[in-house]
Amino acid sequence: MSAHLPAITLVTGAASGIGAAIVGALVREGGRVVAIDRDERALAALSAQRSISVFPADVRDPAALVAIVEQVERELGAIDGLVHAAGVLPLGAICDAPESALRDALAVNVEGLWSIARALAPRMIRRARGAIVTISSNAGATPRVGMGAYCASKAAATMLTRCLALELAPHGIRCNVVSPGSTDTPMLRRMLDGASPSELVRGRPDAFKLGIPLGRVAAPEDVAQVALFLLSERARHVTLQDVRVDGGATF
Ligand code: NAD
Repeated sequence: MSAHLPAITLVTGAASGIGAAIVGALVREGGRVVAIDRDERALAALSAQRSISVFPADVRDPAALVAIVEQVERELGAIDGLVHAAGVLPLGAICDAPESALRDALAVNVEGLWSIARALAPRMIRRARGAIVTISSNAGATPRVGMGAYCASKAAATMLTRCLALELAPHGIRCNVVSPGSTDTPMLRRMLDGASPSELVRGRPDAFKLGIPLGRVAAPEDVAQVALFLLSERARHVTLQDVRVDGGATF
């Protein structure tokens, strides 16, 4: 294991896209990963690797998260790293979206973070060490057309992480946000619904999307590398920060 990274890191949303890239990067660095996802089938594909312990679970179930943390720490040891990557993207204009859209976004993107942080942070406090990274979105700070529920939930996730960072700093625990822009994952492909990613690179003024100055959609690995830095001791004096990984799309 890299001396700079937590020996054990818990990753939610581990079975796909950005979460899966973070799991892969941690394993390549020699770390052990506790992988949580509600997609049991996709998660099973990870279980072949000895350094990954998979737990099919829904982050909307606080009791399940507490039980997983308790079991892992009893059987494997202290979880010193946490990444909340699980997320959902309900689409639709605020006046047209289903009534449940905001509730759905908040339940996973915000309450999921609230619950997993509350399951793990008290243990990190007792040990006076740990690093937490939330995968939020540049949409948490930049309004978008047709993404009101998502934008509001990501703004809340970012602020929740920063408040947590303040409360945990006296215990030597760092909490930071990674805010990706358009990243080539199943979530983005579903949003594009067959349209070309190049449209996102050029920009869509009707959706308040200004384009991507670096000229390409991110790969999940681009986001993973920043998350790993923030988890690592190399970032030992970095907390409360929101790092955009969006090719310059927002600032
Ligand atoms: P993805 O859909 O490929 O992966 C998300 C994973 O989260 C899936 O495996 C899904 O099963 C899991 N998940 C969803 N709800 C869950 C729940 N209730 N409990 C447990 N697991 C759950 O999406 P992605 O693009 O990899 O997104 C990862 C994170 O990055 C999300 O928080 C997303 O909002 C954020 N993000 C993505 C983009 C992008 O362009 N792809 C941009 C900005 C932010």
